[in-house]
Amino acid sequence: MKYAVTLIRLFFLALFLILITNGNMMLWLGLFAVSLMAALIFGRVYCGYVCPMNTLMISAEWLSKKLKLQTKNKPKWLKNGYFAWIALVVSAAAMLISKRILHINLPILPIWLVISVLITFIYKPAVFHNLICPFGILQRTFGKFARLSKKVNEDACIGCKLCEKSCPSDAIAVIGEDKKAVINTELCHQCTNCQQVCPKNAIHYSKQKQ
Ligand code: SF4
Ligand code: SF4
Repeated sequence: MKYAVTLIRLFFLALFLILITNGNMMLWLGLFAVSLMAALIFGRVYCGYVCPMNTLMISAEWLSKKLKLQTKNKPKWLKNGYFAWIALVVSAAAMLISKRILHINLPILPIWLVISVLITFIYKPAVFHNLICPFGILQRTFGKFARLSKKVNEDACIGCKLCEKSCPSDAIAVIGEDKKAVINTELCHQCTNCQQVCPKNAIHYSKQKQ
């Protein structure tokens, strides 16, 4: 499963680079718009499999850990949770102004790609995914209504927290007196990391309660 997921990510990264270098950024933004509709049914699969930022952030995190650059702290100025919305509005406005006044297509996706990698050198990926990414905040808004998502079988879960440690977006946590893992669908990228490490095979992709 791990290799299949990596191959899918590399395929979309290559597609992204081809489209961007050929000046077809709008095609990718179209794919993103379709993925928002898909998130209503399948959850945030764009974030887990398609997003070039996520794919490069995985390597950035690995390198950052090797170089011991990553800190566990979250920046205080991000804690109120509004920054991603501000980033979305500023990005959209910058694109519009560049197009209308300067008659250029602002390379907004490559700009965010660089920002995401730089931030991941310092902070855990969840900081960018949950508090900064302007695309992630939209995925989150649609993803919370997902009909299908990762779900924990409480009877099988032993509360070992291995899933919690493997999650790139802090979407799964062992909580409550009975110490069972619970997934926040809004934050979940449907990435399979937690499934791969669970010693009890307690996590599955299935229908959500509405
Ligand atoms: S890894 Fe599996 S058994 Fe361990 S806490 Fe997570 S869901 Fe439960
Ligand atoms: S809860 Fe599991 S599937 Fe969802 S983002 Fe975290 S590791 Fe990935």
